[in-house]
Amino acid sequence: MTMQLGNATLTMVNGGDFRLDGGAMHGVVPKTIWSRLVSCDEHNRVTYATNCLLVEIGGRRVLVETGNGDKFPAKEREIYGIDHDRSAAAALRELGVPPESIDVVLMTHLHFDHSGGATRRTASGALEPVFPRARHVVQRRELDAALHPHERNRASYLAENLQPLEAAGLLEVVDGEADILPGIRVLPTPGHTPGHQSILVDGGGPKALFLGDVIPTSVHVRLPFVMAYDLDVTGTIESKRRLLDDAIKDDWLVLFGHDRRHGARLGRDAKGQAQVSELVDL
Ligand SMILES: [Zn+2]
Repeated sequence: MTMQLGNATLTMVNGGDFRLDGGAMHGVVPKTIWSRLVSCDEHNRVTYATNCLLVEIGGRRVLVETGNGDKFPAKEREIYGIDHDRSAAAALRELGVPPESIDVVLMTHLHFDHSGGATRRTASGALEPVFPRARHVVQRRELDAALHPHERNRASYLAENLQPLEAAGLLEVVDGEADILPGIRVLPTPGHTPGHQSILVDGGGPKALFLGDVIPTSVHVRLPFVMAYDLDVTGTIESKRRLLDDAIKDDWLVLFGHDRRHGARLGRDAKGQAQVSELVDL
């Protein structure tokens, strides 16, 4: 399905489902509460999508996120319950969008579930970019974090997702808020990682905000719901507060990094807390 917002056409594809520990996904929120909102398997794991947003605007194609990709060895596939059959490139091809037609790839951050689909292995085992014509844009702070990772999230940064892009000269860094194309703006939203960014799409009609992992699912719209994976929890809460205020004030469509329902329109409850008023798929 596709949504038209002004002159921007938005399509969501799944870069592969995976399963993550429900406790880690909900941080300090106890299972007695989160288990009423989402269901988990016998290993306490919840199934998530890796949402990748195709934006067609001004004759250009922008892909936000690349999903898990298809390079995982068996052990990691087992740990993360990774579904190999639905890489972002494969999903795009099914829609008649060849990888060569993507002009820009934007990644909220460089963890493997957002950057894994940017590279692939050839038959001979070499690594190569999946989107050979695309500028791949990340925040400078994110690239620094990926090259010198903190022990706490080092396992999420894999050289195989980054080095082929650098070698091909496809990696581009920006510092802070920046216009990438007319109608496509990146906003720094630190917390999950220091260089995390979210993407604002403004096609001249209602705006859409791709949140990434600052608010990975609709459940995480609640301020205290912050993943245990986040390096700076209070930073995430401040990023969320700011984004939610803007999104509610201007009635943005918000899009989640990992929810199987793609996005939502927001409002406030009787106490003034941000809440989902309507779930939206595209
Ligand atoms: Zn993620």
